[in-house]
Amino acid sequence: MFMILSALLLAASAAGTASEGRLSGSATRQERIVLRAGDLLSGAVEQDGIDLVVRVKGPGGATLLEVDSPNGIQGPEPVLLVAPVAGTYFVELQPLDPAAREGAYRLRLEAPRPATPRDRDLARARGLWATAWQERTLGLAGAPGARAHYDKARAAGESALAGWRGLMGPRDPMVADALDVLGYVYDEIGEYVRGRDAFADALAIREAAEPGAPRTLGTRSDLGYLYLATGEPAKAQEMFESVLATDKTRAAARQGLARALQDQGDLARAREIASALVAEHRAAAGPGPSTSEVVRLAEIDLALGRPQDARAELREVAGRLPVPPAPFTNGHASLLEALADADLALGDVDSASRRIAAARAAREAAMGEDHPALARTLAIEARVRMAQGDDAGAARLFARAASIQARPNARATGDAIAVAPGIDLLRGRFVLTEQPDGNTTILRAPQGLVVVDTGRHAAHTERIVDFAAAMGQPVVAVVNTHWHVDHVGGDVMLRRLFPGLRVYASTAIEGARTGFLANYRKYLEGAVAKAAGDPEKERPLRAELALIDAGAALVPDQPVTKAGPVTIAGRKLELGVQPPAVTAADVWVYDPATRVILSGDLVTLPTPLFDTACPAGWKAALDGLASVPFEKLVPGHGPVLTRDQFETYRRAFGNLLAFEIDVELMRHDGRNPEWFGHTGKTHERFELRRAVHLPAALVFIRQVRLLADCRAEHQSGVGAGEVDEFSDEPIHFLIAEQDRRLVLRGFLR
Ligand SMILES: [Zn+2]
Repeated sequence: MFMILSALLLAASAAGTASEGRLSGSATRQERIVLRAGDLLSGAVEQDGIDLVVRVKGPGGATLLEVDSPNGIQGPEPVLLVAPVAGTYFVELQPLDPAAREGAYRLRLEAPRPATPRDRDLARARGLWATAWQERTLGLAGAPGARAHYDKARAAGESALAGWRGLMGPRDPMVADALDVLGYVYDEIGEYVRGRDAFADALAIREAAEPGAPRTLGTRSDLGYLYLATGEPAKAQEMFESVLATDKTRAAARQGLARALQDQGDLARAREIASALVAEHRAAAGPGPSTSEVVRLAEIDLALGRPQDARAELREVAGRLPVPPAPFTNGHASLLEALADADLALGDVDSASRRIAAARAAREAAMGEDHPALARTLAIEARVRMAQGDDAGAARLFARAASIQARPNARATGDAIAVAPGIDLLRGRFVLTEQPDGNTTILRAPQGLVVVDTGRHAAHTERIVDFAAAMGQPVVAVVNTHWHVDHVGGDVMLRRLFPGLRVYASTAIEGARTGFLANYRKYLEGAVAKAAGDPEKERPLRAELALIDAGAALVPDQPVTKAGPVTIAGRKLELGVQPPAVTAADVWVYDPATRVILSGDLVTLPTPLFDTACPAGWKAALDGLASVPFEKLVPGHGPVLTRDQFETYRRAFGNLLAFEIDVELMRHDGRNPEWFGHTGKTHERFELRRAVHLPAALVFIRQVRLLADCRAEHQSGVGAGEVDEFSDEPIHFLIAEQDRRLVLRGFLR
């Protein structure tokens, strides 16, 4: 390390002084200045292309002030100090990163003068603010005991904010600086609502002072991340998109946007953005994509049910983990969690177990045992225990996750969508070529959570578990709207994790176990044989077999046989029972307090499925729903509907039964797959779209016709079309109204 000593001696001149130059790497620049005891040293270092740490050292060599604002390589580092003794002081500039490229700086110091009492107060506030940053930086390193640094950072930051506000008023830019450090501290200690409010206040000050400036955009992006943490992904999306509209290169905002879309269930767009970011940083010179960028992409792939891809991506950054016995820090935890999640999905339970234990140990050592982020770590670990057959261990870990007191301002409910106060929706996944998950609605009740439908894939049900962990409340009751596997499959996991859980449903599943489910089981066994040992193909098939074989765990212990008011877990609800419609007996749930109705598959978007249906009974059921005074309807699949949208669906359904259906097949030329993107969206007019296999399309039409007589065996899935007609030839088709006829157009690939 070499040092350039400035020859410039700053005397106490009236004009003050300015100097400028360039710095890089490990070079250090010092300015010398002579001060009398009680003199005010005031000024700033303007950074241009390099991030500097500014220190003021006293006559004894001790560092009296160290400033490194979070503004990166541009902007000012302010200096404000009252000299405690007379002597020679040094203002020292040093690049934060010893590998930094060369950049310019400009140092400006006002002429020293005796400090007034007000100067002393200002200098004290500045000093506290600098201390807050230093301590936060130490906390962020995530070593054991990090939490103590955060506590110091918080105390110093709050004092600095109060002091500066009192001296300069609430709109001073330095108030925004103090709010910044507090925003990060609150976020990192898990007080997300406080963090959100701090960044929102800082943003208001910056928007008024310098709209569109890089620092203002940075604060916008920071606020977006806090919206993610408080479970407001739509607001987060708005923040990130507004940042990117001004500066589309901002990596943090792009990564945040991917997460916001992921949290709202738009996995396809989320993946596009996250993978572009990783690919660009991989191609560029430099250190490659950041760990958090890769973890984001991997988590999206895990949500998409692609653990193989996720693991391949994570491999790129897994080498950055320290090799034991070197300790893991809090900063490694999210990478370890993603790795464990991928391991678990791929059946590598031992590796998952080691990694998740390491993640938990690192989090606990750094941040204590009640940080909200731990709830997710514990939930993953609970799933690892279940995979090891240790149900008791899983339940214990989960109970701990739930008991982490969700502090009132520490709510992070992941990707849940608020439907109404106390009602949240976890959208079911709809991925082409894969079996879907139904929607899950979670109602908060006095005695715990009431979950309506539980999904099919483990990944879906885990979202319910994560939600419960974040809320700090157990699941005490499940209502199944009907027995289809994409609505009841998660009952198995929830019953294991929440002993004593009550399941409300019709008893129609009893008939299905010897009908539809038995047939489906035969089909699955055949498919496993055809997969011929290919683990990628076998895994989902075996998961389905396991669900069907769980048999008894899918059967209700609270049979719903009649409609009417009912109190579940202390919450007053109304249940409807609809025989026969989608199945031999469907249940719907109405919450009179919020006027929200949960219809199950009586409303299924993008299009109803008739495998086990009685079409005429279904139509009557929709007429019955229309007489309930609901304002919002949560369908079995698809987004929340207004009353008007429900009426569109009801009309469409009537038309579907009434109209002739023509079938036209044509070659799909690959140029016009635009309707493909509509899958899962509400149809504004009568236009039903689906993407399935051709024989299934034909079955669909035949079902509407053949099932018209609604014989009981149909609702158990017998005679509803041969299940073995699932073919390997993919086809997309859309059904559209044309001259009062339905046209089914198949696009062969
Ligand atoms: Zn369904």
